[in-house]
Amino acid sequence: MKSVLKLMAGAAIIASMHSAAIAKDLVVGVSWSNFQEERWKTDEAAIKAALEASGDKYISADAQSSAAKQLTDVESLIAQGANALIVLAQDSDAIGPAIEKAAAEGIPVVGYDRLIENPAAFYITFDNKEVGRMQAREVFKVKPEGNYVFIKGSSADPNADFLFSGQMEVLKEAVDAGKIKSVGEAYTDGWKPENAQKNMEQFLTANDNKVDAVVASNDGTAGGAIAALDAQGLAGSVPVSGQDADKAALNRVALGTQTVSVWKDSRELGKRAAEIAAELASGKKMEEIAGVTAFNGGPKGVAMQSVFLAPLPITKENLNVVIDAGWISKDEACQGV
Ligand code: BGC
Repeated sequence: MKSVLKLMAGAAIIASMHSAAIAKDLVVGVSWSNFQEERWKTDEAAIKAALEASGDKYISADAQSSAAKQLTDVESLIAQGANALIVLAQDSDAIGPAIEKAAAEGIPVVGYDRLIENPAAFYITFDNKEVGRMQAREVFKVKPEGNYVFIKGSSADPNADFLFSGQMEVLKEAVDAGKIKSVGEAYTDGWKPENAQKNMEQFLTANDNKVDAVVASNDGTAGGAIAALDAQGLAGSVPVSGQDADKAALNRVALGTQTVSVWKDSRELGKRAAEIAAELASGKKMEEIAGVTAFNGGPKGVAMQSVFLAPLPITKENLNVVIDAGWISKDEACQGV
């Protein structure tokens, strides 16, 4: 009798595990900020695949770099029946009213990759300060002294300052010792490569081309900076950082015009975000999410629930890592080498 009961209990557990994996028919709305950028397509594929696997539905909108459009995008996702939202904020402050609206309607929000400093939003990202440290470390290895330029991200994206603070943490000692001099530092409006290129051109002109190193905050802006260096015959002789492991950037790493990219496996970020969104929509509390940690390191010090994934620097020496992981083919990475 006892063993029959045990068997029945086991069957009940299996049945309930099974029902958890069965289609929940939730609608998850994703609000992208700037979908034209290469990396978000990988994130999207991962989110879609995870939702498909759990039997949930993906809907989305792209703000096309407009903070105003993103507000109406979120409203429209809610109107289309979203049970949970994943938001890549174009502007961390301007998005506020959309988050409040979702919260008022009991719709959970996952702040995706970029901080939305509101306790109503769950926060999932990579350790952005560490990304900044990795960028500066690799550039510093090549140029431990000289004139440095900092091509920062968008001022509306808190990641820009997280990255910069990580970069400065690594370089502080050399700056204080007078070995490194900052000869240019600028945010890049909307993270756009063409704006990064313009800023870089101005820094080169202002310094008679005497720039020894460029700490650029992502691969797109690195591409802009390298185009400006190239026009002065300096590409390849000045170390430049980036992040995202964009295909063009990995090729530049192989060719030697970019020193480092930082790989953030967004396939994992997208998958986790989709799972978390569905869990929150199904009634799980933020504190119950697997791997959750407390975070209050944003500009306003708001206490948030978060999940952080680990980044990895990619240089010429370990390019094989992204090739082996199926992120890029060897032919694409090494084209023209
Ligand atoms: C992301 C980067 C991305 C940048 C521009 C940042 O918030 O963390 O991966 O390159 O935005 O879209």
